[in-house]
Amino acid sequence: MISIHNEPQPTDLGDVRVANRAVVLRHVRLHAPCSRADIAATTGLNKATVSSLVTELLDRRLLRETGLTGNRVGRPATMLVLDGSPYAALGLQIGADDLVVVAVDPGGNRLLTWRRAFPAPTADPADTVRALVTLARRAIGRVTGQGRTVLGLTVGVPGLVDTAGAVPLASGLGWRDVPLAADLRAALRETGFTVTVDTDANLAVLAEQRHGAYAGATDLVHVTGGVSVGAGVLAGGRLLRGGRGHAGELGHLCLDPAGPPCPCGRRGCLAASTALPAVVARLLPDATHDGPVTDYLPELDRIVASARQEEPAVLAGLAEIGRQLGHGASILANLLNPEAIVVGGHFATLAPWLLPAARAELVARTLAPQAGGCRLDASTLDSAAPALGGATAALATIEAGRLPVG
Ligand SMILES: [Zn+2]
Repeated sequence: MISIHNEPQPTDLGDVRVANRAVVLRHVRLHAPCSRADIAATTGLNKATVSSLVTELLDRRLLRETGLTGNRVGRPATMLVLDGSPYAALGLQIGADDLVVVAVDPGGNRLLTWRRAFPAPTADPADTVRALVTLARRAIGRVTGQGRTVLGLTVGVPGLVDTAGAVPLASGLGWRDVPLAADLRAALRETGFTVTVDTDANLAVLAEQRHGAYAGATDLVHVTGGVSVGAGVLAGGRLLRGGRGHAGELGHLCLDPAGPPCPCGRRGCLAASTALPAVVARLLPDATHDGPVTDYLPELDRIVASARQEEPAVLAGLAEIGRQLGHGASILANLLNPEAIVVGGHFATLAPWLLPAARAELVARTLAPQAGGCRLDASTLDSAAPALGGATAALATIEAGRLPVG
């Protein structure tokens, strides 16, 4: 079970009911359609408790009945599935050349995915916040227009995020000390829902755990590819945050002290040679002739086209970038022994040319045989994984058994 917040242990009957509600919702999410009797038999909750909780969840339209099934031993039973149609949760992400918003409902349905071109790495942080708020308002307008109540909104940032939702440093964006959560709350005013900020990598691994090829894994890493390179780590089913929330800065591991300068001010960081701007600069030396790149998608398309035409310099460059990615992955494998490391963003786009070299490097540099069983794969989620994870995270209070306000 994923716990992204440290839920207090139940201390009174109200807390017990909240915990039991979470157990029922989780059971239905994983096993729907299922009957009240199934829930009681599997969870160990008594039938009266299950019945009472299900009635409450039906009233709040977090569950719905799907009719009877006759294919069972004994009496036909009324089957239950997740509903959530009166609600929506939003996630946003700040990409290299776009902002993305995703909305989902508690039933797991994706309601919308919108992208807006925006050059965050060259924009003023205040302009980026304004653009995020505009996009969020449009998405809020759409889902509330459908009669839904917004439960929460989470924004993913490619950089450090502290426990108050401020961004002390996002070197890929050129940000320092941006009070992002506070700015968003002030701009959105009285929302009636929670507004939180997290790293894009943490949110992406939540999306992987729920919707990706390794859904359900308890030891899983998502490595983001974009203006920065970060690792979202699930260890033993829990998001690994560290003491102040700054775990997972894979991109700033120094792999080569004599390597190229990194936007963070150091040299030889993994991000200095494998983040999207570094990859474009290395493989397309002409890309910055007319000034900084603000639209990366066409550049990435050019790299893919060159790789498909087997241009030797591009293939050699991609193999070297793959080896560096594999080196970084081996550090994760040695420290964490995850079941899988999945790579997103431009690493997923370029996976056919990066991963063969990366996998060989991972195995060669990991002490345990066969990299400790760690798979290295491209994410099967689209490049909106952090926004999808943000929307998923915004459902956390419901999934923890707390009923929506109102
Ligand atoms: Zn660095």
